[in-house]
Amino acid sequence: MSNTEYVQWSEKKIPLAGKVDIFVAGGGCAGSGAAIAAGRKGIKTFVAERMFALGGTMTCGLMSKISISAVNHGIAEEFIKHLDAYQKSNFLASRHEVPVDPELCKWMLDKMVIDEAGADVRFGTTICDVIVNNRTIEYVIIDSINGLEAVKADYYIDCTGDGQLSFKAGASCMVGNDEGYGSSPTLLFRIANVDIEKLISEMEAHPDTYASERNTYSNHKISPGQNRENIANNKYAHFADFIPLIRQKVKENPGLLTDWELEMILQRGFIFMCQPQGTHVMVNSTRIPFFRGTDNKELSCAMVSGRKQIEATVRFMKAFIPGFEKAFIMDTASMLGIRESRRIIGDYVLTEDDINGFSKFDDAVVSNMGGVEIHGTNGKGTNIIEQKKNGFYHIPYRSIIARDFDNLFMAGRCFSASHAALSAARNIAYCMALGQAAGNAASQLAHSGKKNVREINITELQRELVSIM
Ligand SMILES: Cc1cc2nc3c(=O)[nH]c(=O)nc-3n(C[C@H](O)[C@H](O)[C@H](O)COP(=O)(O)OP(=O)(O)OC[C@H]3O[C@@H](n4cnc5c(N)ncnc54)[C@H](O)[C@@H]3O)c2cc1C
Repeated sequence: MSNTEYVQWSEKKIPLAGKVDIFVAGGGCAGSGAAIAAGRKGIKTFVAERMFALGGTMTCGLMSKISISAVNHGIAEEFIKHLDAYQKSNFLASRHEVPVDPELCKWMLDKMVIDEAGADVRFGTTICDVIVNNRTIEYVIIDSINGLEAVKADYYIDCTGDGQLSFKAGASCMVGNDEGYGSSPTLLFRIANVDIEKLISEMEAHPDTYASERNTYSNHKISPGQNRENIANNKYAHFADFIPLIRQKVKENPGLLTDWELEMILQRGFIFMCQPQGTHVMVNSTRIPFFRGTDNKELSCAMVSGRKQIEATVRFMKAFIPGFEKAFIMDTASMLGIRESRRIIGDYVLTEDDINGFSKFDDAVVSNMGGVEIHGTNGKGTNIIEQKKNGFYHIPYRSIIARDFDNLFMAGRCFSASHAALSAARNIAYCMALGQAAGNAASQLAHSGKKNVREINITELQRELVSIM
């Protein structure tokens, strides 16, 4: 029985901050895709974002590599083309894995979402409650430096990653696998002042010492020389996992790492990737097992554990990884890298069978190629199922509309998918595409004065979404 005590929170009158066509909750990649799509239709769009930048996990979370398959076009592809044009680079050529600079991404999203699409973006603004009338969301209550305010919209798009808007509205949610745990999160960080050329030369000279032990994607398994060539040609380079070296050094130097540090580090070894600027790497190594992502104490402990793992990792790397002797931590993410938390139940729940069987749907709004990639819910292993080269599957419109509401969409990693299906379809380009689909759909409905997401003209929507095959 719960021991929670309760207090009465009296009803208040609060100012109405705006009446808009579309309210976008969260300005991550999905929210940015939704706001750009709606803004381009001339639709009045309000975006509430709790951080002070757009991009979510990609920027504040430092997940600075966009996976974009051959069938992903639309805003995600456009976004990378803009970054390439600005940097005078050609990173899109390294599709399926495009390294990006999170700081440049923040600026580019400001430009595309606010300056060009005209969305009214409010930073430092948290969705804290929802006023609901039967199956309709009437108002969202936001909290910011202004205090509490309300916003009214015809349609609401939940792009909070954690399904915060839908959860507060009372929508049915799913969390994790059968035991309630999702793919483990990672606190990402960047290391500066790295001499990658030195590391590559050592890897070429001593291949056994630097071998990797764990399962990874075949396009990550490239020779050190190929990584050198990729870096020279503005392409993606990936280094993993150094586990034999870690074991050897720990054996030779007892007391180097505590038992806990070693256990944490051996979950994934060291995984890092090049960044557009070349002198630093982004590290995707830490792991928080047994994670649900639905409790603020759990989230706080995860950040603390992540920073402890980072300190131990960098201590080891500076001592034993060639090229890292003068390296230092450039930054740690200000947001935990959450792969999975709440998923909202829609009219259809995308399944693992849909992914593996390349399901196609009449109401498709996104085409995808990503395969299942579950990151050890219990800290152990990563389950990667690579898709066949030419196979792709659809995500249906019914998976981005909330089953329990008539004016609520969800896009990005809180869309309606099973634990395994989400692990395949959570990549940045897919999240942007889901946002774009929801933004276009809500714009069509708002334009025509319709009151229910189920009144969509799906053929018209699909005509606008160039990504659908
Ligand atoms: C460690 C890791 C590795 C990954 N690797 C890759 C990869 O290699 N390639 C790839 O393409 N993708 C990768 N991904 C997946 C990808 O980064 C995410 O799935 C994607 O960025 C999620 O985008 P989103 O917009 O759905 O959610 P988020 O990025 O979570 O954005 C949600 C936004 O909503 C805001 N928000 C949340 N709650 C509120 C609230 N109550 N009020 C206001 N705002 C709120 C947040 O601040 C955030 O900006 C990885 C993810 C992780 C964590």
